[in-house]
Amino acid sequence: MDDVDTSGQAEWRSSEGALQLGHCRTCDQVHYYPRRVCPFCFSADVGRKASSGRGTIYSYSLTGRGPQGPYVIAYVTLEEGVSILTNIVEAEPDRLAIDQRVELIFQQVENGWVPFFRPRHD
Ligand SMILES: [Zn+2]
Repeated sequence: MDDVDTSGQAEWRSSEGALQLGHCRTCDQVHYYPRRVCPFCFSADVGRKASSGRGTIYSYSLTGRGPQGPYVIAYVTLEEGVSILTNIVEAEPDRLAIDQRVELIFQQVENGWVPFFRPRHD
């Protein structure tokens, strides 16, 4: 992860509260987390693209111990096609399912904002 741009505390969160994906202007692919060089074609002509914040659960697992008790760690595939390792919050773990629709919710932690996801009901 040595090419992560850590210049900004809220690196993955736009001022409008959207999750920022990396977008390559050369090959038009999106990637996450945003990088200075495209991981697909190695072009340095990369910018940012706001995610819709909507996705589906690709896989998940209940982890027994955390500072606040058990929590759900998951891979969520965003509508833009990239997958993100995250936590599922505001959910009953035994009611989660693969392919379940989820939406982005940023939570503030000590060092900034962290993108989590919660079940979507639309
Ligand atoms: Zn590219």
